[in-house]
Amino acid sequence: MTDLEIHQPDTLDEALELLSRLGEDVKVIAGGTAMVLMLKTGLIAPESMVSLARIEGLDGIEHEQGDGLTIGALATLRDGEMSPLVRRVNPVLAKTLGTVANVRVRNAATLGGNLAEADYASDPPATLLAMRAVVVARSVRGEREIPLTDFFRDFYETALEPDEIITQVRVPELSETTRCAYLKYVTRSSEDRPCVGVSTVVEMAGDDDGTCQDLRVVVGAVAATPQEVPSAEALATGKRLDEELINDIAEAYGSAIDPLDDLRGSKWYRQRVISVFVRRSIETALRESREEPA
Ligand SMILES: Cc1cc2nc3c(=O)[nH]c(=O)nc-3n(C[C@H](O)[C@H](O)[C@H](O)COP(=O)(O)OP(=O)(O)OC[C@H]3O[C@@H](n4cnc5c(N)ncnc54)[C@H](O)[C@@H]3O)c2cc1C
Repeated sequence: MTDLEIHQPDTLDEALELLSRLGEDVKVIAGGTAMVLMLKTGLIAPESMVSLARIEGLDGIEHEQGDGLTIGALATLRDGEMSPLVRRVNPVLAKTLGTVANVRVRNAATLGGNLAEADYASDPPATLLAMRAVVVARSVRGEREIPLTDFFRDFYETALEPDEIITQVRVPELSETTRCAYLKYVTRSSEDRPCVGVSTVVEMAGDDDGTCQDLRVVVGAVAATPQEVPSAEALATGKRLDEELINDIAEAYGSAIDPLDDLRGSKWYRQRVISVFVRRSIETALRESREEPA
């Protein structure tokens, strides 16, 4: 076995040049919460690693009125959870980040790392996908934007090229009439990864009679990638989200998704939990509006 070589560049350009030069046998490491486990268990054995830890300026959180939030890839999940900006303009995103594991993990784990890891049982992807967030990735060839709708490809597989680094995550502005919720259901311990996680974004028509203009419901942790059922979402367009319609949408999600079996829940169990949590997530979104997390 060869010794692992760890590069610690001070700039993004240096990091990108290293990734380009070192080819397939190099891995990026950010907070290390997933990478260290994968190395220890022998799941990966790269020849070298490029650490992003010394690169400055990739952990900022900014908000542009009308455009939304820009979160640096190296911002930790705890940075996002506690940011007064995120909590004010997008409380459900702050809440979602706050449901990950425990404070120790959230203090090290970065948002870019969470998305790039693409573990199926993660929390942020469901909410960021429902909010139609976009990942900004850089390589020596330039910069590109990848909508999260195109980002997750399979178990631990994303649209990123091996020499690309996520630099930012852009989260569109939520309008005054947008209602959101994220519900995480765990089966083993309160700090566990989700058995099912459901994120809902409802765009209301703004005419105060409760008409839904657009509904997005993303279910995480039940399949290789976060699941969305457009035919069920479309049931809500132009309608009032009353109890009967919400139940129909929830049942449609339960029937359309073919969930996996794992230690957190069997396929049979998840199928039922999906319907229950889709219903609760829509109800919570309609009820909780834009409150800041406690
Ligand atoms: C005990 C424990 C409990 C957990 N519970 C949960 C949970 O409940 N919910 C949940 O969502 N997650 C959970 N996680 C996962 C955790 O959120 C991720 O491990 C973490 O977010 C990864 O970020 P990191 O900065 O540590 O990434 P690293 O471990 O450094 O890297 C992870 C992957 O991302 C790649 N990568 C990192 N940064 C970039 C970048 N900027 N550009 C391109 N590629 C990059 C790396 O090459 C690697 O493939 C848990 C993890 C642990 C250890």
